[in-house]
Amino acid sequence: MTIPTQGCLWCGHAGPLLAGDSVTPVNPQVSLLHEVRRCPECHEAMLDIRWPDHVVRRKGREYKRRFRRPLWVVIYPVPCAWCASANTDAYEINATVANPISTRFKYDIYRCLDCQRPNAVSYLGEIHVHRADQDREFHTLWHLDPA
Ligand SMILES: [Zn+2]
Ligand SMILES: [Zn+2]
Repeated sequence: MTIPTQGCLWCGHAGPLLAGDSVTPVNPQVSLLHEVRRCPECHEAMLDIRWPDHVVRRKGREYKRRFRRPLWVVIYPVPCAWCASANTDAYEINATVANPISTRFKYDIYRCLDCQRPNAVSYLGEIHVHRADQDREFHTLWHLDPA
């Protein structure tokens, strides 16, 4: 049975959303179709991930590029590993991590909007959140679980 997915994750609008293309985001958790949905109220985007028996809706963000197809990023619900706030937002996608748990893992950096500290998130299988620290010398390099 298909459970209907409804409503906007950004503003809470409960009505139907506008359907868009199927896209491949740069940071998918699963290699399934991601269908763009837009809210007619706040105009923010979401991605519906279509499993055989249900649909998972995530927030999405589109990065327009000149003369090329836009990049799509999935924004996962990430609790801050420092202060447990749910008020986080994606900051850097496919970040370089000096000490990954496994080289198979990809990491995104999420910034907490309450305590301002960075988190590193991996997606393989399930979502794992680590406290993260920016390297003092190389600002594009991140460290997991600083002492
Ligand atoms: Zn909305
Ligand atoms: Zn926090």
